[in-house]
Formats: sequence, structure tokens, C-alpha cells
Amino acid sequence: MQRLIAVDLDGTLTVESCWTEEECLIATPRKDMIDYVNKLYNEREHIVIWTARRDCLRHATEYWLSKNGVHYHTLDMSKLPAHLYIDDKAINSLDTKEVIKYVDQHEKGGDIKLINMLR
Ligand SMILES: [Mg+2]
Repeated sequence: MQRLIAVDLDGTLTVESCWTEEECLIATPRKDMIDYVNKLYNEREHIVIWTARRDCLRHATEYWLSKNGVHYHTLDMSKLPAHLYIDDKAINSLDTKEVIKYVDQHEKGGDIKLINMLR
């Protein structure tokens, strides 16, 4: 069954954090993480790129995602720019191997209503 997976952008799909249009356009991709997110997408998981970037950076962000071949369903720019996130479903994205291990072992399935809420 399809899972809804929220993927952070800055520091997860990019190396740096981006706060200006120029930074968004030239951000360094984290190829290993992009490859893994694309693998999940190709396995029919529902991928939401969830970022705290301001909405005025949407076009630059979409350009960067396209330029770097990131496959996703939705770009959600409503994330709160917090210093820390305390979340029972979070995985630290700094170690790609740990992310892959956790996501691949995490039980598939769950409440499909989550995904339908986005449509
Ligand atoms: Mg981040």
C-alpha cells in the first residue's frame, strides 16, 4: 500500500540551506538522497517535498527540483522554520544509509485518508 512520505528539502535534498532565490538556484544536490527519493517515487510511494522556504522562492525551488531530476507529487511550502523538530515519525536525513534502512523496514500501509487529503 502507498505511503505518504514528507521529504525535507534544505539539508536533505540539498547540502546547504537556501534563503534567497540565487541560493535556491545553485544549491548543491545530495545525489544519494535524491536517488533514494526517486526510488520511493518509482515504487509508487506518495512523495511530498515539505520545506520551510518562503513561498516567493517557489519558482526557483521548482526549477531546482526539475533540474536535479527530483520526482515528487507535491511541493508543500508550509513547514515552520523551526530550530528543532520533535516528531515521533521523523528520521534524521544526514545519514542516507540510516534513512534507507529505516524507510525500507518501516511497515507499508496505513491510513490512505492521509494521501486523499492532499488531492
Ligand atoms: Mg532541513
